[in-house]
Amino acid sequence: MPTRVRRALTWLGAAALAAVAVLVGPTAAQAATPAWPTLGTGTSGANVTSAQFLLRHHGRTLSVDGYYSSGTASAVSSFQSANGLTPDGVVGPLTWGKLVVTVDVGANNNAVRALQTALNKYGYRLTVDGAWGTATTNAVTSFKSSRGLTGGTTVGPTTWQWLIGGGGGGGNYSLIIGRSVLPRSEYDDPHHDYPAIDLPTWTGVTTYAITSGTVIHVGGGCGYGIGITGDDGAYYQYCHLSSRSVASGTRVSAGQVIGYTGNTGNSTGPHLHLEIRVNGGNRCPQRMLLALYDGGSVPAPSSLPTTGCTY
Ligand SMILES: [Zn+2]
Repeated sequence: MPTRVRRALTWLGAAALAAVAVLVGPTAAQAATPAWPTLGTGTSGANVTSAQFLLRHHGRTLSVDGYYSSGTASAVSSFQSANGLTPDGVVGPLTWGKLVVTVDVGANNNAVRALQTALNKYGYRLTVDGAWGTATTNAVTSFKSSRGLTGGTTVGPTTWQWLIGGGGGGGNYSLIIGRSVLPRSEYDDPHHDYPAIDLPTWTGVTTYAITSGTVIHVGGGCGYGIGITGDDGAYYQYCHLSSRSVASGTRVSAGQVIGYTGNTGNSTGPHLHLEIRVNGGNRCPQRMLLALYDGGSVPAPSSLPTTGCTY
């Protein structure tokens, strides 16, 4: 058995043990409430998106793109002034305390969009539409019971702090294969039919999680595929792997090994297919991959174009 496969199997065994340990370990209710994150200019990810939706809920005008730009900072300063806080344009614990609002079943507003974005950090894959329906109720119930939180479906300050403070902030990204595997020119190639990218690698190239999130196994024409519901709210799908190193449901961090490239599923030769979806719609991954290759600042997935990368 190749070392790689043996290593992958050992890893799966360890993951299974870890899963058991989680089940029999101390309940999360015994753990401390996670701290509010501090967000400022240049930060990005799901927590920034939630803060932007909450600012809109409070009547501020700003774009919601998961990137803390000067526009976000201005909206924060304005909100802080109106709420008796020092207008420093940085979202810390005091500002979070004023931004979050109590929401419950049936609400339909930007605070629910913030909530749905935060829940998606934990793999719930909700449509971020602001309408609190059955799927949102189920996700809230599941999240609150897993943390030992009381109060039915109501999402008040404590639940918000668990949601925003835990699960990573999103916004940390990694190359998906080693930088030396392919030249830069492969990362701007268009994809057939729909927004995605095919990277022509040989079989067995180590493949990494692009960002932190929760793994799901994908099959069908994708072959041995892996989906990652990112903490940034986007969904990333890898296809045609020769083997997978992470079980479905596993939490991964950016840069963690998730498998090895291959030629499984609908594939005419070894390559790595990657697609990025935001709210179910495919985005062009090229700009994000080029930024990672170049070591530049990585665009938020929601800012990636929906067209222009196909032939
Ligand atoms: Zn493809």
